[in-house]
Amino acid sequence: MHQLLNADLHSHSNLSDGTLSPEALAQRAHACGVELWALTDHDELAGQARAQAAALELGLGYLSGTEISVSFAGQTVHIVGLGFDAQDSALQQGLARTRAGRLERAHAMAHGLAKVGIEGAFEGAQRYVRNPDLIARTHFARFLVDSGVCSDMGAVFRRYLTEGHPGYVPHQWARLGDAVSWITQAGGVAVIAHPARYKFSPSAEYALFTEFIAHGGQGVEVMTGSHSHGEQLRYAETALEFDLLASRGSDFHDPVESRSDLGSLPDLPGKLRPVWLALADKVAWPAATAAAGTASPSRSPAPTSVRAATAA
Ligand code: AMP
Ligand code: MN
Ligand code: MN
Ligand code: MN
Repeated sequence: MHQLLNADLHSHSNLSDGTLSPEALAQRAHACGVELWALTDHDELAGQARAQAAALELGLGYLSGTEISVSFAGQTVHIVGLGFDAQDSALQQGLARTRAGRLERAHAMAHGLAKVGIEGAFEGAQRYVRNPDLIARTHFARFLVDSGVCSDMGAVFRRYLTEGHPGYVPHQWARLGDAVSWITQAGGVAVIAHPARYKFSPSAEYALFTEFIAHGGQGVEVMTGSHSHGEQLRYAETALEFDLLASRGSDFHDPVESRSDLGSLPDLPGKLRPVWLALADKVAWPAATAAAGTASPSRSPAPTSVRAATAA
């Protein structure tokens, strides 16, 4: 494995709020040139065995993954776990507890929407749900777009599903320290997902990073579908400042909705330590690749690499 491996370590299937099956996602990752993939469904491991089997069948390397919802300093923060033992019972139980309140929350969201004249949102959202354990705001957003209430997903979140709006219901997710421990005790690495998306003050963000590290967290996403070029540069510096491993993942949910396709993000800047090098012994490789002793084919750098921009 090497720095320029086409690794995509953040994506969602229809076992959480993505629209493709684990198998279809694996095929898309393969078609997009991904060499090492992780399915990271929200608070859920149900797709892991299928994702790994499909990846290996297609010749991709695979790392186990999940994205845990955490409440920290009054906001929801997402912690990606990579390379853990998906059979670990403490991790499985922690995720089951984290998922548990979603149905009740969904009923409360529908109640809030009904108050502003949007009837039947619970049943509407349910039509998009493939895993009864995992109803998410995304399913409501798809319903509101398809029923013509809003023209796109961004508008739904702005007008209905975020704090201060009618379909928003505050929720207590996992604690930061618990989420990090579940991942690390199961042999994995914890990574702060899409750090630029939180609305923290500089001091609250500093607290997030320092507490995350104190609990045993080791990584941060630098390349993610929701980071602008400036945010990629900023969190590359943050990774260096806190001596964190860096991750790269599209956060792909759907071919139409998602900004970044699988495997399409710029490579990590050369000065960063990719999380996949630290997880080399956790990667499942297809038998032929492993037997040949060539952990992955090499390729040339992605054309939009920020390496040049950050070299100075
Ligand atoms: P939940 O876990 O139910 O709170 O849903 C969170 C999910 O909503 C995220 O994982 C995203 O997939 C989606 N999401 C959040 N904000 C937005 C947005 N502004 N536009 C589109 N999708 C969003
Ligand atoms: Mn999502
Ligand atoms: Mn997320
Ligand atoms: Mn995600």
